[in-house]
Amino acid sequence: MNCICSHQVVGKIDLESKGRYAVVQEDDYLEFLSAEMKVINEDDEQKKNEFILLASDYVGSLVKCPNCERLILFPPHGDAVEFYKKDNDPRQ
Ligand SMILES: [Zn+2]
Repeated sequence: MNCICSHQVVGKIDLESKGRYAVVQEDDYLEFLSAEMKVINEDDEQKKNEFILLASDYVGSLVKCPNCERLILFPPHGDAVEFYKKDNDPRQ
C-alpha cells in the first residue's frame, strides 16, 4: 500500500513500529471488548483463534506516513482507506 506521496506504508498493525495506532469504531467498542474477553477466557486453542479472528475484524489502524506525515486510516471491517493531511502545519 502506498501513501499519496508514493511512500510505501503497511496497514497491518505492527506493534514494534512507532506512529501506528489500533482503532476501533466507537459504535463497535463494546462488541470488540466482548470479543476480546472471549479470547482471554477461552482455553481451547482452536476456539481462541476463531475469537481472535472475530475480534480483529473490529480493529483498523491509523498510520502516520514517515515521508509526508499524512495520516492514513485503514478502517475496521476492510472499509476503504482514507488519507488525511494536517491543516495549518507550521512547518509549511
Ligand atoms: Zn506520505
